[in-house]
Amino acid sequence: MERTKVGKRFIGKVAIVTASTQGIGFSIAERFGLEGASVVISSRKQQNVDKAADKLSAKGIELLAVVCHVSNAAQRKNLVDKTLEKYGQIDVVVSNAAVHPSADPILQTQESILDKLWEINVKSIVLLLKDAAPHLKKGSSVVLISSLVAYNPPPTMAMYGVTKTAVLGLTKALASEMAPNTRVNCVVPGIAPTHFVANYTSNDATREELERKALIGRLGTAEDMAAATSFLASDDASYITGENLVVSGGMPSRL
Ligand code: NAP
Repeated sequence: MERTKVGKRFIGKVAIVTASTQGIGFSIAERFGLEGASVVISSRKQQNVDKAADKLSAKGIELLAVVCHVSNAAQRKNLVDKTLEKYGQIDVVVSNAAVHPSADPILQTQESILDKLWEINVKSIVLLLKDAAPHLKKGSSVVLISSLVAYNPPPTMAMYGVTKTAVLGLTKALASEMAPNTRVNCVVPGIAPTHFVANYTSNDATREELERKALIGRLGTAEDMAAATSFLASDDASYITGENLVVSGGMPSRL
C-alpha cells in the first residue's frame, strides 16, 4: 500500500515503543519518527535491534535502540533509564509486545504457558508503566495494543484472547489512574500479515476467508495500525482517553 502523507505531530516528543524491531511495533516507531519524534526502539535480540535501527536511521529518523525483553525487570528499567539519559523526557509509551505460544483450549493449556501469557501480554505492561509513569508529564500518552480476538476469543487463540481482553480492562483502569496528565488508549488490530500471524495468513484459503470478513475487502497492514496508534498518541486525540480503537477493516467486532 502506498504510504499516505504524514504530518509532523511529534516534533520535540520522545516515544518508547516496545517490541518494535519488526511488524506493527516497527511501523509505529517509523510513523512516530517520520512525524518528528525521537523514537526508542527495542526487542529481545540485539541483531534485530541493530537491523531495525539501521532501517530507521536510513530514513533520517532520530532514535535510540536498546535490547529489552519486556519480562526482564533490569532491561525494562534500562529502557527507561537510557531514554532519560539520552533525551531527558518521555512523552509517549506504546506497549506492543505479546506472545501467542499455544493454540490449545484454555483448560488444556500448560501452567507454564499460562504464566508466560500473563507475564508478557499483561504484567509487563504494568511493570513497564511503573518504571515510566514517574517521568510522564502533563500531555503525555500511553497506547496499548490489544487484538480483535479480545472481544470474543476464538478456540485456537482462547487464552491469548483473554489476555487481550485484560488489555482492554487495563486501558480503562490505567486511564483513570493516570488521569488527567496522561491519556491511556488502546488500538485493537484486526489482522495484519506479520510474522505473528503467518500461520493464518500464509494459507491461501484462510487468508481469503479473513479477507472476506473485512468490509474493506483486504487484510490490514502494520502501517494501518501505526496510523491509528499515532492518532491516539498525538494531540489530535487530546480529549480521548480510556478508549479502544478497532482497526479491522470492518471485521465484526463490538457495538
Ligand atoms: P511480529 O511481527 O511477530 O513482531 C514481534 C516483535 O516483537 C519483534 O520485533 C520481536 O523482536 C518482538 N518481541 C517478541 N517478544 C518480545 C518480548 N518478550 N519482549 C520484547 N520484544 C519482543 O508481531 P506483530 O504482528 O507486529 O504484533 C505486535 C502486536 O500486535 C502484538 O501485541 C500482537 O498481539 C498484536 N496484534 C497483531 C495482529 C496481527 O494481525 N499482526 C493482530 C492483533 C493483534 P525479537 O524477536 O527481537 O524480540
